[in-house]
Amino acid sequence: MESTEHNIACMVCGADLIYDKTAKNQICVYCGEMEASPIYCPNGHFVCDSCHSEDAIAVLQRLAEIDKSKDPKDVVKKALSHPSFKFHGPEHHSLVPAAILIAMKNRKIAKPDGSPITFETILEGIRRGAKIPGGFCGYAGTCGACVGAGVAVALFIGSTPTKGPERKVAHVATTNALNLSQDGLKRCCKRATYYGLTAAMKLLREEYNIDLGELPEHKSCKYTAMNRDCEEESCPYYIGASA
Ligand SMILES: [Zn+2]
Ligand SMILES: [Zn+2]
Repeated sequence: MESTEHNIACMVCGADLIYDKTAKNQICVYCGEMEASPIYCPNGHFVCDSCHSEDAIAVLQRLAEIDKSKDPKDVVKKALSHPSFKFHGPEHHSLVPAAILIAMKNRKIAKPDGSPITFETILEGIRRGAKIPGGFCGYAGTCGACVGAGVAVALFIGSTPTKGPERKVAHVATTNALNLSQDGLKRCCKRATYYGLTAAMKLLREEYNIDLGELPEHKSCKYTAMNRDCEEESCPYYIGASA
């Protein structure tokens, strides 16, 4: 019970986190580094993004190396079942590109330039996702898991800041995910992950004829009971009261 609480709130004491309007300098209880963040525990605990996510990131790196899934939803299922994945947290920003790229690598899908998607490609996707801080959805008008769709597509097509057409495709992926995310609901890193996967999988299918499996299904989320902030009937992925 305790570990479930700590999984969705302050990692130290389980209290609901405060999402403040402005950042303040805080010292991480684990690594001692000072960081400015608007998110903190009412009991004074602060855990930096690295300490919050590093175990989950290690799980993603491990999956990148060994997982044989050909469907991004299966990668997501495995990652989310691992205890290092907190209910909400910036590790979801790396999860979307990892899931898409792992499935593409296992299907031996080549990039448009003919080169393969490799373990290194997936690691780079995980690294890029991990640069997006926790809470960015509410603080910056973009959601890290939705940007994850852009990261996955950018790596597939080899987008860089100076490649106009490729950069556009990456923007379309993130924009499509953000369009889904304009639901007016409180943040949920699971819902955001489904949005990110949906946008990336749809774009790859429609523009590149790459089929990575069925899109995440509405009314299929198994995590309602773990989320104090679940928006239930307002969320398209809510499975229903009996779940
Ligand atoms: Zn606390
Ligand atoms: Zn830390």
